[in-house]
This record gives sequence, C-alpha cells and structure tokens, in this order.
Amino acid sequence: MANASKTPMMEQYYEIKKQYPDAFLFYRVGDFYELFEDDAVKGAQILELTLTHRSNKTKNPIPMAGVPHMAVDSYVNTLVEKGYKVALCEQLEDPKKAKGMVKRGIVQLVTPGTMMTEGPNGAKDSNYLTSVVTNKSGFGLAYSDLSTGEIYATHLKTFAGVANELLSLRTREVVYNGVLTPDNKDFFHKTNITVSAPTPLEGEHAEISYVEQGVHNQAEKAAVEQLVGYLLTTQKRSLAHLQIAQSYEVNQYLQMTHTVQNNLELIASAKTGKKMGSLFWVLDKTHTAMGGRLLKQWLARPLLSLEEINKRQEMVQALLDNYFTRENVVDALKGVYDLERLTGRIAFGNVNARELLQLSRSLKAVPVILENLLQSDSDVLKDFAAKIDPLKGVAERISTTLVSDPPILTTEGGLIQEGVDAQLDRYRDAMNNGKKWLAEMEQTEREKTGIDNLKVGYNKVFGYYIQVSNGNKSKVPLDRYTRKQTLTNAERYITPELKEHENLIMEAQNRSTDLEYDLFVKLRDEVKKFIPDLQKLGNQLAALDVFTSFATVAEQNNYCRPIFHDDDQEIEVIAGRHPVVEKVMTEGSYIPNDIKMGNDTNIFLITGPNMSGKSTYMRQVALIAIMAQVGAFVPADSANLPIFDQIFTRIGAADDLISGQSTFMVEMSEANEALQYATRRSLVLFDEIGRGTATYDGMALAGAIVEYLHDKVGAKALFATHYHELTGLDKSLEHLKNIHVGATEENGKLIFLHKILPGPADQSYGIHVAQLAGLPNKVLREATKLLKRLEAQGASELGPASEQLDLFTESSTNSIPEVAEENDAQEVVSDKEKDILDQISNLYIADKTPL
Ligand code: ADP
Repeated sequence: MANASKTPMMEQYYEIKKQYPDAFLFYRVGDFYELFEDDAVKGAQILELTLTHRSNKTKNPIPMAGVPHMAVDSYVNTLVEKGYKVALCEQLEDPKKAKGMVKRGIVQLVTPGTMMTEGPNGAKDSNYLTSVVTNKSGFGLAYSDLSTGEIYATHLKTFAGVANELLSLRTREVVYNGVLTPDNKDFFHKTNITVSAPTPLEGEHAEISYVEQGVHNQAEKAAVEQLVGYLLTTQKRSLAHLQIAQSYEVNQYLQMTHTVQNNLELIASAKTGKKMGSLFWVLDKTHTAMGGRLLKQWLARPLLSLEEINKRQEMVQALLDNYFTRENVVDALKGVYDLERLTGRIAFGNVNARELLQLSRSLKAVPVILENLLQSDSDVLKDFAAKIDPLKGVAERISTTLVSDPPILTTEGGLIQEGVDAQLDRYRDAMNNGKKWLAEMEQTEREKTGIDNLKVGYNKVFGYYIQVSNGNKSKVPLDRYTRKQTLTNAERYITPELKEHENLIMEAQNRSTDLEYDLFVKLRDEVKKFIPDLQKLGNQLAALDVFTSFATVAEQNNYCRPIFHDDDQEIEVIAGRHPVVEKVMTEGSYIPNDIKMGNDTNIFLITGPNMSGKSTYMRQVALIAIMAQVGAFVPADSANLPIFDQIFTRIGAADDLISGQSTFMVEMSEANEALQYATRRSLVLFDEIGRGTATYDGMALAGAIVEYLHDKVGAKALFATHYHELTGLDKSLEHLKNIHVGATEENGKLIFLHKILPGPADQSYGIHVAQLAGLPNKVLREATKLLKRLEAQGASELGPASEQLDLFTESSTNSIPEVAEENDAQEVVSDKEKDILDQISNLYIADKTPL
C-alpha cells in the first residue's frame, strides 16, 4: 500500500479498497475495470490476465491488471465461483462533466451466496445464501435465493443441526454472527463454505418489516434480519422481490441428514455427482426451471401430513386420468420462462426488454393452461385453475408497448412501438423527415452540380457529409461546399444547410432514445408493482409442472398410487422396483420384489451372495417411502405404507466431508445416529455394518446393533449382512425375520435370481464368487475342504456356515475386547453374542491346525 507518489486517483482507490479488504476491487476506469496491488497479482493469475504496472518510472510501480467492461460478468463469476468476493466500483458521474476527480463508489458486492448465474446443473439449481445467528437457546437460521427472493427460516438447537441444514441446502456462503470455534472453522473450510461477517443496517427498511411478517420466533427473526441486512448492504439497492419469510421446523418433514440424502442418491449420483442416476433424474419431466427447482426442494423435504400428501396425489391422479388435458398443459408450460428469476431481475432493475417480452409471452401461456384445466372433467383440476390469476393486464401492457424483437441494450432506442407515446412519435417523425430531406438534397445537389455519383453519407466522427469522387472534384462548387476529409479516391464536404439538418436529426435521435429509456423504465416499474402476484403465479405453475411430471413418469413407468395408514407401521408393497436401477436396465429385466413387514416384523436380516441385489432391495424400500411422502406415485403394483418420520442409512463407503474420519468411524457414527434418534416410526437401512473392522469385532458389533434396534428402538429396519452367523438371531429376536436373495447353481456356475425369499441364504456362494473371479483351483479346493470341515464342526448351531468368513486374513487374530462391568456397552453385547463369538473363535483355532 505504501506508495510515495500517490496520484489522486490512486488515493481514491486506496480509500475505497480500505472498506473492502476481503474482496477483489474492480475499479472502473473508462472502458476497463482495473485491479491493483495484490488484487492484480492474484487476479492476473486466476483470471489469466496480463500483469502490468502503473507509473513504471517510479521506484515502486503498482501492479495492475484490467478487464474490458463488456466482459466483466464472466471474470466476476470465475472469481466468485471460487469462493471469492468482488466489489464493483463504478464511475458515478460522467467523466466529461466531472470537475476534478471522477466520483466513484461501490455499486455491488458480488459474493458466492448472492451470485445470480446458474449453478453447475443449470437453471434447475438454487443458490442459497444462509444467515445463522447464535443466541442463548441455540441457533436461528434463514436462507434465501436472491434470484427468486424466496426466504425460509427455522431454529435449531445444535451446531450439528445447523451444519446439516447448510449441507442439504448446498449453501455456498454463510453470514454468521457467532465466534468460530476451531471445529466450526474446520467444518466451513472442509465444506468450502465462505463465512461472512454480518453487515449491520441502520434505520428502518421496508424490506425487513415486509419479510419478517412470516416469522415469530426470536432467533428466526434475528436470522432473517441479518440475512436481509446483508443482502441490502451488498446489493446496494431496494429488493422489492424479497418474499415474506416462511418459517419451518425440521421435524415438520421426513427427516434425513445430508449424508442420507446423498447415500440414497436423491438429487445426484453418489459416484459422479451428476443428475443422471439419481431419483431426481427419474422423476424430473418438468418443463420449466421453476418446476425443476421445486421438485428438488420437495425431494429433500418429504411430507408428514397425510392431508397434504393426499392433496398432491389428487393432482397427480387427475392429470394421469386426463391425458389430453395433461398433454396440452405440458405444451403450454414449454412456453413459460423462469417467472421467478425474471421477477427477481425486474426487482433488481437489470431486466432488459427481451426479458420483459419473455415475461409477457409466459403470461400469455397461462390462459391456455387455465382453459384446458377448466375444460377437463376433474373438479380437482378445475379448483386448481380457479385459484390462478393469469395477470392478463400485465401481459397486455408489455406486449402493446415493446416492439417484438428489441435489442438487449436498453439505452440505444429501438424498444418502443409506434403509437405508444405521442412525443416519441414526433421525434421519430422529425428523424424520418430529416432523413427524407437528406435524400432529396442528394438528388438536388446532383442536378445542381452535374455530379452523378455525388453521395450523402454519415460517419461517427464527422457526421453527415457529401462525397465526391476524385474524377469529379473540379465540378465541386467551392463557394458553397467546405472540404472536411480527403480519402484516396474521394473528397468529403459539408454545407451549413447540411449541418443544420444534422443537428435537428441528432437532437431528435438523442431525445428519442432518452425518452425510450424513460418509457422502458416506466413500464418496468409498473410491472414491478405486480411482483408478489407474479411470484405467486410462478409458484403455482411450478407446482403444476411437478404434478404433470409425476403423472407422466407414473404413466410411462407403470407406477401406482400408494395408500397410507396412520395407525400402525405395517409395510406392504407388492412387486416393488428400484426406480433408478429399473431405468438403467433393459426393459422388463428388473425382477420386482414384495416388501411385507407386518406389525410382528421390525427387522429383515438379509443374506445372499455379493452382487445378488441386497443393497438394491433395501434402497428400493427407502426410495418408495420417500417418493410416496413427496406425493409421487411409486414403482410397484400396490403399496400400503405408514408415514415415516425419519430415515437413517449406513450404506457404502460415504466420503465424509465434515470430519475426515476413517471409514469405520463414519460407519459407527452413522449407526450411532440411528440408534440414538430413530423412533418406532423411522426406517433404518444398514448395509454390511462392521465391514470396516476385523471380522470378530465387526460381527459382534453388528449382532449387538441388531439386538439394540430390536429391543430398544423398534423402528422398521433392513439389515444386510455377510455375517451368516447372525441369521441364528431369529431364534431369540421375536420381531426379526431372515430373508435372502435367491441364487442357484447351474453347471457349477452361479446364477443370481434377484428374488427375495424367506429364510437365510442356505448355500455358500463365496467360493463360487471366488471362482468367477478366477482364483487358482488349488485355493478353491482348499477353501472347499475347509468349509466342509467348518460345517461338520457344528456351525449349524449358529445357522448356516459362513460364505465369506475371513479365513485368510490376519484380522482374525484380533482378540475380543474385554468389556468392563460398569461400561454401558455391557448391555449392548449380550451373552448370546458372546456365545456366538466364542464358538466362532473355537472354529477358527481348529482351522489353524495343519491339514
Ligand atoms: P449386493 O448389495 O447384494 O451386493 P446390489 O444390490 O448392489 O447387490 O446389486 C447388484 C446388481 O444386481 C445391481 O447393480 C443390479 O444390476 C442387479 N440387480 C439388483 N437387484 C435386481 C433386481 N431386482 N432385478 C434385476 N437386477 C437386479
């Protein structure tokens, strides 16, 4: 910063930069935005700009890099995408008119949470800025997508709860008023969330009192105020599109942590992070970006209220039953632009004429939609239509004001139709008359001078001129003509008369573009008054889009309407399918399976060879439950379901962003979460628990967890395991049932049937799988021998022999940890489990004797 020879401009720069130390300062100089000092060095590297220096002659040249103002958006986006902030500093007065230094100021601070370009998955992504406040009772949390103006608020007891909301919202930036503990810091760092300090606002702000109407809890209110305060101070303009905040409780919806949502691949495939392969991918047949965003929100928050679920189902059913209505609605929806984001741009003041026309064209699709709904035989559809206001006046006003193909720029005219404004028409007449006069003048001058190819032309530097080719130069009446410019083969002249008309034309033109701009702003401001109505309409169309999508998907994939019962937890799904796996397989090759868990059954212990379909079956149960509670139809012949309050999973190797814990630690934390928080009304999926550690303690833990779930939790649980020893648990655990995935052997080859059957897997396939994998015959023979001995030695008491008992790993030498008397775990590891473990240990020792 220290620079001996500061020019007034640099002084102004440093003054502004001081207020935005953590942002890249884009400092407008003429047609460029300049970066200086460290911003320039770092910016040049990230944005691949040429790094130059200002005042090279002095001892301490200032590093400098610039971007052209026309291309500024893409540079700003690149920086903000990477988590930086950008302060845009504009010239606040016309440099030609300024006395002394041109006044400059920050017009907008662009931050990751306030950026309004589309996310990596396009317009169907939301970009949420979240505000978190701490107070005595916990945390208030509020979030908003600035492009649509929607705001939601809730309160939470723990930071873990806050962290979970932030992750499920995929928030990029958090405004946080609390002190950051090392753990919090670590969390924000690992999840790449930008943390910003609150920006207090002084005085009354209409936006705050408006949005606050929706919240009453103190913590939520504080979070909303902090959120809107931050938006107003960074965006530096009024934000008329902010909507009344909606208060919610996390337990108002089916609760799933962010990890569970990821594991179940609701929005994105766990492998690729892309839409393809997710539940969203199957269900999304929406035609508007608003519909796509709403569907994503619904998937993350399935409902608990039977009444609300039923309302959604009714709409889906009605659209399913009325094919032609649906087809016509779909066609009309295709012509609807992103009303929510257009509304945001209107409020923001950066909407252009083309976008206003998009708005009016979208509005013109609404009467078509309504007409179709009203003409159907469905009362549900008619009632839905009756609540929609098509805002015909707004559509009319726009389409009768703007020309049909206006330019993007709003400052250069060409926007407004003829007949809209009498004064504008007069200016345009003057311009046209002026041009007509020029054409006539060309003709009369040709006659007067006898120069046939005399031309009247125009350029930006000299204005209108008369051009005469060199061959005719001698005929030019120099008494009337003044020479202005010499070209290689022609001369250009002006006359006082020509200049006089030029002034008239230019004046008319300037006035006309100014007036057009004013008329455009007037139109925009008129439309602005309808922002709440447009937002409401946007929401209604988005919901209609999702309902139509559900109906189309249900029809194309043969889904059924699930039935709910509120009084018990019985599950009866007939011929259920996994919606995504079914989609990626050739048609008809997916094997449907029933899921029948009566009141007497809480746990399914699933065994079967690897790759037989255990995991697919478990996930299918969870996905059907989620789809049902979202209001969609489900992949089954019939489904009779309870309403689940929470879903817990322990599936696959989750990469754990938050803590960087070992796989086993993550596995245990997830299991713990289910054991601690699941209720009778929850659904728990455990896939291969205990795999991350040695065989025996893994098996011991798995057994103890099953027992705890059975005795203490009572949730509906599906438990896939490769520990066949556990299948014996059905003798003592009344509500546990063994099921297995069928497989047969044909000509020594293993065939997966993908069919769920009662009882434990009765064959040992491990060696067959090893054979498929090409292990040497000698190993396979030895394994078969060992297996026979194990079976002979009484493993039958524990149920069938292990298919995958770790015979060759060192882990088997681990001893079983002593469990101290006073330790809580005492209760969890029962005598029965110890028995099982002892027997297994004995077997193992027997194996070690040389064969
Ligand atoms: P596991 O959990 O037993 O190792 P998965 O559930 O991962 O096995 O299933 C392995 C593969 O088997 C799946 O990717 C799918 O291709 C196929 N599969 C699973 N269930 C079915 C089914 N019901 N019908 C047809 N194929 C299935």
